Amino acid sequence: MEKLIIEARVNEYAMRKHNPNVPWSSEEIARDAAACREAGASIVHFHARQENGAPCHDAGRYAETIARVHDVCDLLVHPTLGANTLAASKEGRLSHVLEMAKDKRTRPDFAPMDMGSTNIDAYDPVTRRYVTGDQMYLNSTDTLLYFAKEIRAAGLKPCAVAWNITYLRQALAFHEMGLLDDPIYLGLTLTEGKVLAGHPATAAGLDAYLINLPKTVPVVWTVYNYGGNLLNLADKIIAAGGHVAVGLGDHPYTELGAPTNAQLISKFADIARKHGRGVAAPGETRQILRMN
Ligand code: ZN
Repeated sequence: MEKLIIEARVNEYAMRKHNPNVPWSSEEIARDAAACREAGASIVHFHARQENGAPCHDAGRYAETIARVHDVCDLLVHPTLGANTLAASKEGRLSHVLEMAKDKRTRPDFAPMDMGSTNIDAYDPVTRRYVTGDQMYLNSTDTLLYFAKEIRAAGLKPCAVAWNITYLRQALAFHEMGLLDDPIYLGLTLTEGKVLAGHPATAAGLDAYLINLPKTVPVVWTVYNYGGNLLNLADKIIAAGGHVAVGLGDHPYTELGAPTNAQLISKFADIARKHGRGVAAPGETRQILRMN
């Protein structure tokens, strides 16, 4: 079985209330990335953040962060489009990635494509109320067609993200149309806690994806648990030949105290070794995903 690709999801929009080790600034993200590389990660996924932790929509900050990561380690870089997820045009959502791709110093390796749309309002099971009522994450087919074309033209690898089976079906349609190259780097999203938009983070939630993966399409699949602990499913994922995308962005991992991203990554690297897989270095991840 091929080596385990570990993608470090270092921060998302996580605050520091439960774990102070979430990196926000460009320097912190770069330092964290280097430590994650040492621990066994081969990809870093990040969101630019302001000094107070608020989302940062500055394209320059994205570029600065990638340049700093390149300065300190050889991790493959996967920035978010989340800078402008809810409001911007399809061109506006992708423009910072395309701009950065033109310069070797700031060039990312991946760009995400969430292959469908969903409600993302947070539900509070304690009060039995929704925290918001109008939050929709929209990715129209036209938008995704545009992303697929432009991401390929920029020479980056798309990370096709599924939040449920319908997203998976759209990813497979794009592959059939020749818009996604072999193999598809497919993110399978599980969600726990207040966000109900993904499959539940259970063996059954994961299996619902896996039984719908066609044997005829080359897929390298990785699993997120947005809002919960991915360690609970690590043995199952790794034994089944999957990969993991994990970090303090998804969950503070207070079950382990207050770990750093690197300490968390090393847990998954240990499990990979236990299963005889070992962890993929960035160059090996490139080979597995057949990237340039
Ligand atoms: Zn993200």
